[in-house]
Amino acid sequence: MTYNINEKGYYGEFGGAFIPEMLYPNVEELRQKYLKVMAEPDFQKEFKALLKDYVGRPSPLYFAKRLSEKYNTKIYLKREDLNHTGAHKINNTIGQILMAQRLGKKRIIAETGAGQHGVATATVCALMGLECIVYMGEIDMARQAPNVARMNMLGATVVPATSGSKTLKDATNEAIRDWINNPVDTHYIIGSVVGPHPYPDMVARFQAIVSEEIKWQLQEHEGSPNPDYVIACVGGGSNAAGAYYHFLEDTNVKLIAVEAAGKGVHSGESAATSVLGKIGIIHGSKTLLMQTTDGQITEPYSISAGLDYPGVGPMHAHLYQSGRAEFIAITDNEAMEAGLELSQLEGIIPAIETAHALAVFKAKSFQPDDIVVLSLSGRGDKDLSTYSDYFNL
Ligand SMILES: *Cc1c(COP(=O)(O)O)cnc(C)c1O
Repeated sequence: MTYNINEKGYYGEFGGAFIPEMLYPNVEELRQKYLKVMAEPDFQKEFKALLKDYVGRPSPLYFAKRLSEKYNTKIYLKREDLNHTGAHKINNTIGQILMAQRLGKKRIIAETGAGQHGVATATVCALMGLECIVYMGEIDMARQAPNVARMNMLGATVVPATSGSKTLKDATNEAIRDWINNPVDTHYIIGSVVGPHPYPDMVARFQAIVSEEIKWQLQEHEGSPNPDYVIACVGGGSNAAGAYYHFLEDTNVKLIAVEAAGKGVHSGESAATSVLGKIGIIHGSKTLLMQTTDGQITEPYSISAGLDYPGVGPMHAHLYQSGRAEFIAITDNEAMEAGLELSQLEGIIPAIETAHALAVFKAKSFQPDDIVVLSLSGRGDKDLSTYSDYFNL
């Protein structure tokens, strides 16, 4: 059994490219070229240089002493929160903007829900001087006004999606429509390990820098490259894919994927896709997604905008179905408490997405000599008003 993608673009039975015929040439061009482009020494050189000098990599692997003492195990935090723009998403947008350049694209489009991927895309477009159009649901634009302002400041055009529920899925539909109408000069930057093949694999490869670094950093700290556990939160699954990537086939390294249970897995207000999801097609890929009995996609809910997604990427659907990863669902309340705890034990305010992963230490116990690496996917600055409303700070 392999946990990586096969040559047809599937992880087990999940993945593939289920797209309208008019999109086929765009996706096919990318599929034929992405591995070749990524293998070019010049591409790798530029990618690595930008990750180092622009993003600030390698991100530290920090031994969290007080958190480890509290839970009586050895906890390392992979500090993606220290990246430029405050999360792991920039690793992928840097990779994709270089890909777009190599493919001769002059115009970049993206969709965004909470605005984090939109900001990461607007950032790399400014860096490269490329036109940037970000589609965003009208309701999300109101809810996430600071990120709209950031994108405007960076020179991007934010286009409201005014159809349907006026949220992420409608923004995605608008982006796809744009791409169909602009097949030659436009690249569509997808922000997680979702979408039609080759996107999940391409994004996972760009994020794989995270586990590549964890290996040599753990070797330095512990004299061995492999931890006992890797823990990460899963929205679409890109920070988890990056943190797992170089451990996928090594089953001595246990993988824990953390989903948002919202107000409770069975409350009707949740985003716990593995428990609630059924096989279906979303954004061009066959995966697990939350849907009604007649196949309509269910509106997900989580206090954390980045985990508020009704599906998971095909890699994660396969990790779930095969049992390779353990999936744990964490509620809003559990996540908020874990976010406060990390702030006060370690002086690190995490993104609320990441706080879901941190809540695993209350949900599950580890052995004193276990080495546990947790992907600290992002910083909590963007979430301060949610934290302060919640805790009356
Ligand atoms: C977007 C985001 C996530 C969720 O996305 P994945 O693709 O599942 O990683 C998690 N954490 C942070 C900080 C984010 O911004």
